[in-house]
Amino acid sequence: MAPTNSKVTNMKTILRFVVALGSAVVALPAAAALNVFACEPEWGALTQELGGDKTSVYSATTALQDAHRIEARPSLIARIRSADLLVCSGSELEIGWIPLLLTQSGNPRIQLGSPGYFEASQYVVKLEIPKVIDRALGDLHPGGNPHVHTDPRNIARIAQALEERMAQLDPANADGYRSRGKSFLDRWQAAIARWEQQAAPLKGVSIVVYHKDFSYFINWTGMRESGSLEPKPGLPPTPAHLADLVDRMKIQPAKVIVYSPYNSPQAAQFLSERTKIPAVMLPFTVGGTDKAKDLFGLFDDTVGRLLAAVK
Ligand SMILES: [Zn+2]
Repeated sequence: MAPTNSKVTNMKTILRFVVALGSAVVALPAAAALNVFACEPEWGALTQELGGDKTSVYSATTALQDAHRIEARPSLIARIRSADLLVCSGSELEIGWIPLLLTQSGNPRIQLGSPGYFEASQYVVKLEIPKVIDRALGDLHPGGNPHVHTDPRNIARIAQALEERMAQLDPANADGYRSRGKSFLDRWQAAIARWEQQAAPLKGVSIVVYHKDFSYFINWTGMRESGSLEPKPGLPPTPAHLADLVDRMKIQPAKVIVYSPYNSPQAAQFLSERTKIPAVMLPFTVGGTDKAKDLFGLFDDTVGRLLAAVK
């Protein structure tokens, strides 16, 4: 009968609607539950490892940019406005741009002290905490050296804290973050054991850095820092300082000079030409070289390049 048919049809339509509505609701978290704003590529890569398809990660900088000096441009403000989680090195590395972005964002979720504000360097033992803060000594980091990611053991500690933070912010996917975290840490610890074996010949090897951004790596591998191309942290190399380094290296030569993709290579090349000490660019962060495609590749390539240079 016609009325019954029409009722059945109506029921079917309603059912279809309910099913569609249901799947839409279910589908919402899958369309990236957490919007992450990472200050540096290494934290973008780590968050991606832990979050998988449950996160949408935006890295504010690339390996070619100097994270000490970033302009708080409108495109960054737009990104930070929609972020649920901010992941930065902290310890004032981003003091020139993140506070301004946070103020401009009008986003309460990621302000200092909110669960969405995560400073990676707060979860590790920091090196080079100055006893006296004196800006005359250069662009010092008064909270200690913020470049903590160059020691892979720090990345393991930070991964655990970050995984818990993500679970707290997005409880519906907490189990997923924890199981991805466990999988990452298992692979990471195995990789650390491998790198430590490979890097054994680097122990005691003296190294000239550009900026003090490899201090944690040097501490981990037992290398010895014997100078920096910057006369004072944060100040660009000067002819007088380079001439002094050339003289010092003639008396006590280092084995290798390193710089990062965000540094100009000229000072390293200048010193290398005059002292015959090899200069090598290390990836410094994810994306810094072709091989540093992820965090594993970052350390594979860093250790590999140093071994090749000092052999
Ligand atoms: Zn620095």
